[in-house]
Amino acid sequence: MAPIRPKAMHKKLSDLLKPFRRPKVVTRFAPSPTGLLHSGNYRTAVFSYLYARQHGGKFILRIEDTDKARSKKEYEDNIFESLEWLGLEYDEMYRQSDRTDIYVEYLQKLIDDDKAYVSKEPAKDDPTRTVELVRFRNPNKKITFTDLIRGDIEFDTSDLGDFVIARSMTEPVFHFVVVVDDHLMGVTHIVRGEDHISNTPRHLLIYEALSAPKPTYAHLPLVLASDRSKLSKRHGAKPMTYYRDTGYMPAALLNYMSLLGWNPGTEQEIFDLKGLVKAFDLSKVQKGGAIFNEDKLRWVNKEHLKLLPKDNFTAVLKARIDATERAKELGWNVTPELAAKLGPAVLERINNYGDIDIMITERDLDYYFSDPAYDAESLRWKGESVQASATHLEFIQETIKSISEKNWDEGSIKAALWPYAEEHGRGNVLWPFRYALAGKDKSPNPFTIAGIIGKDATARRVHEALKKCANHADKPLT
Ligand code: GLU
Repeated sequence: MAPIRPKAMHKKLSDLLKPFRRPKVVTRFAPSPTGLLHSGNYRTAVFSYLYARQHGGKFILRIEDTDKARSKKEYEDNIFESLEWLGLEYDEMYRQSDRTDIYVEYLQKLIDDDKAYVSKEPAKDDPTRTVELVRFRNPNKKITFTDLIRGDIEFDTSDLGDFVIARSMTEPVFHFVVVVDDHLMGVTHIVRGEDHISNTPRHLLIYEALSAPKPTYAHLPLVLASDRSKLSKRHGAKPMTYYRDTGYMPAALLNYMSLLGWNPGTEQEIFDLKGLVKAFDLSKVQKGGAIFNEDKLRWVNKEHLKLLPKDNFTAVLKARIDATERAKELGWNVTPELAAKLGPAVLERINNYGDIDIMITERDLDYYFSDPAYDAESLRWKGESVQASATHLEFIQETIKSISEKNWDEGSIKAALWPYAEEHGRGNVLWPFRYALAGKDKSPNPFTIAGIIGKDATARRVHEALKKCANHADKPLT
């Protein structure tokens, strides 16, 4: 007796249930791998994804690579990488170059039904050559559709003539394959850029010719550069993977892209993916173009950094510092305790993880690991003498002695020195203190640095500063 095959039985059952399981909403992201896609392109993926997920629907990725000359594998790989990094999971993936047989079949069907015909005509680029194009028999009529964002739109298709749907039987063009695919894939909602509006009448005519149910369209406003022209590489629009590689958080990119043409109608601007799925509303997307603003993106990323559990940020900070040449070269020992102390001071000065690398390059972390080098003149506050700085440093030296190791932190150091600084002028007192600790014109305040480097290092650096002052003869003040 043949063994029972539970797998086969399972398959049968699922086939039976299929008609009942068809999700009500199916969306897709249909990029062409003809270049590295930027946030203007991925914004479409985000909106399609959110709409599908909030309706318990399906989200499909379809690689539109019918343009053989311009489509490249590296661009396709970049799309996969970007979507994975963003966490936009798709339920199905198709590649149009794998589907030629299907297109031929549907082309033939339209020709058989006399909805399209083969047209022998001279080639455009070389009129001595004859080509066999497939042209759509345009019924020349008025077509109306209701766009979810733009409302009712009417077109007179007679302006389009009998448009081309294939350059040969095996070379269908975009207008044809997009409709065949969306139909066969059960796409119910087509979310795409406004630049496709003028293609929609052609697509609707093809749906009618195929007797296929028409989808709902939502044409998104363009993403614009600051000069209000369409965002493009020309404006320095960067590929999504650039943001990954320069230390942005995927959650921040998702969040920022969701705001390109949409807002929740409240003050809230920071969302995680779950929050976006809940709040997003396709029908509230604006009609006007959305300007891509890198500063705003940096701000959104910082807000997401601030929301990270402290330990996560500390771990990334440590890993990031450890990986740098400078840290290796100088043998920096980023203990977990030091990383935890450094965390808030670094977070305050960065918008993304890449900024940590910049801080390192600009020597903005050196003073946490080693005593700074500088000359005595630098300790001089505006209009004051170096000797005046020495007087304040002496007070600081005595005061820090009185703070116990146990109580050594930013708050108690500040509390001990603040009244003196207020009395003698903050700049007069804090500038030499800060310079003694950091050896730089710009750095966090001295209390923060002192808290991080500890009592011993602070005392040693103040002592060093005093030694420099003692060896320095003030020039007469001018
Ligand atoms: N492949 C087209 C593009 O990259 C998208 C087509 C569509 O969404 O219908 O612009």
